[in-house]
Amino acid sequence: MDERAHALSTRVLRTGLGTFDDGAAPVNVPVVRTSTVRFESSAEYERLHRLRHDGGNVATYGRHGTATHRALEAAIGELEGAAHTLLAPSGMSAITLVFLSLLTPGDHVLIQDSVYGPVRERIEPLLARLGIEATYFAGQDGPPRDALRANTRLVYVESPGSFLYEIIDLPAFGAFAREHGIVLAADNTWSAGWLHRPLAHGAHVSIQATTKYIGGHSDLMQGALSTNDAALAHRLRDTHEALGLSVGADDAYLALRGIRTLGVRLAQHARHALAIAEYLQSEQAVARVFHPALPDDPGHALWQRDFRGANGLVSFAFTPLHDASHARAFVDTLRLFSQGASWGGFESLALVAPASRLRAHSYFRNDTPVVRLHAGLEDPSDLIDDLRRAFRLIRT
Ligand SMILES: *Cc1c(COP(=O)(O)O)cnc(C)c1O
Repeated sequence: MDERAHALSTRVLRTGLGTFDDGAAPVNVPVVRTSTVRFESSAEYERLHRLRHDGGNVATYGRHGTATHRALEAAIGELEGAAHTLLAPSGMSAITLVFLSLLTPGDHVLIQDSVYGPVRERIEPLLARLGIEATYFAGQDGPPRDALRANTRLVYVESPGSFLYEIIDLPAFGAFAREHGIVLAADNTWSAGWLHRPLAHGAHVSIQATTKYIGGHSDLMQGALSTNDAALAHRLRDTHEALGLSVGADDAYLALRGIRTLGVRLAQHARHALAIAEYLQSEQAVARVFHPALPDDPGHALWQRDFRGANGLVSFAFTPLHDASHARAFVDTLRLFSQGASWGGFESLALVAPASRLRAHSYFRNDTPVVRLHAGLEDPSDLIDDLRRAFRLIRT
């Protein structure tokens, strides 16, 4: 039977199962922990090392992972539609790996201005020290033709963007990158690979913080990179080796377990987020709601064209009658939304978007505070009641 003909929801459940031994098998692949890999003979030692040297995805040492890691890579490969997937100890390390693998001193990189904040705050200074220059651009305006230089090697995007979820025309960026012989890398954390496949829309590399929806329970840190380009996979793998990036087998197992329920969790998060977004649109204190599934969101048409659904993130901007103290009082009043960074777990979260990060964003120039909500799996009417109560208590 052609496994490829199956729907994604079927395929991600059929990959990474335990293998039969003496006629029986566990459902999921076991957690295989090891540092040393033992070989049956010197001939096997040499054969497997040769295989690895020639690019085979086999482990000759624990740092390269085990059957548990291979199973997770295969499942993420199914999600991303990718032939090559590498794991990293966090989303951040996966992103840094892309920059360090693909850029050398004297190169120039184009970065969307609404990417995950630490890219600008942590990675850009590292690149500057290495003599690599970065230029930021407004992704919603399309490919940054005017910012292109002869030494531009990489375009780095994230769609929907952080905090405000603006959608970019990724196929147009793919065409732009190919026209100029540069690599297009996309942070795909928002979609978890379930809702959107950057590689099918023109990106060369797709990156995820599997910390978020793939983990799904706020109890692990992990990242992944996927590509269909063998030469790029080779470069990424070489730098991955040099940095010694490794992921514990227990965390690989948890991420694989998260993938089994990813589709049903995301559908529920999205239903709750849409209900909350629609409620927020009716609140007097709210000037604007950001969520691409809302028909009046500027990215709605691109989202409908390129995505299979939405996730649990919704942000809103207060009206000018409200300042940062109102926003802080609002989140402090909430009972069912914890305050914290990150998202993608089962629980609801609220965070006042840091003004420094929003200032870097060209999509929405406004000086009223923005709150980011992550709609968890709690009952949505309880969540909306909690929000309603908090708005009532800060009424101006
Ligand atoms: C959380 C996040 C990251 C970083 O992932 P960590 O696992 O926390 O290092 C990167 N990109 C996006 C879009 C994220 O939301």
